[in-house]
Amino acid sequence: MAIQRTFSIIKPDATKRNLTGKIAAKFEEAGLRIVASKRIQLTLAQAQAFYGVHAERPFFGELCEFMISEPIVVQVLEGEDAIAKNREVMGATNPADAADGTIRKEFALSIGENSVHGSDAPETAAEEIAFFFSGLELVG
Ligand code: ATP
Ligand code: MG
Repeated sequence: MAIQRTFSIIKPDATKRNLTGKIAAKFEEAGLRIVASKRIQLTLAQAQAFYGVHAERPFFGELCEFMISEPIVVQVLEGEDAIAKNREVMGATNPADAADGTIRKEFALSIGENSVHGSDAPETAAEEIAFFFSGLELVG
């Protein structure tokens, strides 16, 4: 596997509880380098666009309201097999199913307020990085 980049969000439930540093440490301990990072607050339109793939799901409204409820930290993570590695470090969507030592097992509050987002494939990683970062912000 080659060096990849993936996109990560530290979600409102985690920024609110001052978990940004602890979550970033998990990425770094797993060998993922944080090559870009910024704290922002999404508008409703931005949250709806970002999670557009889930527009028909029953939890879409709740998800978008949650994602705009507090600031988030958006990051680009780089490393060997970064997309899969990040999903591994994150743990399962529902913290009740997440493996020991994962971010969601340690920090998530519920299936909705689950502390982190991570891209699920090379195509979505590229799209999501471009949604939040310009080329100038990606120094590597
Ligand atoms: P993410 O895309 O945020 O990395 P994921 O890929 O593990 O998470 P998805 O199925 O893509 O999970 O769902 C996107 C997000 O929608 C979840 O992370 C969670 O915040 C929310 N979500 C998913 N399922 C539910 C549910 N049943 N009830 C409430 N919120 C949900
Ligand atoms: Mg997803």
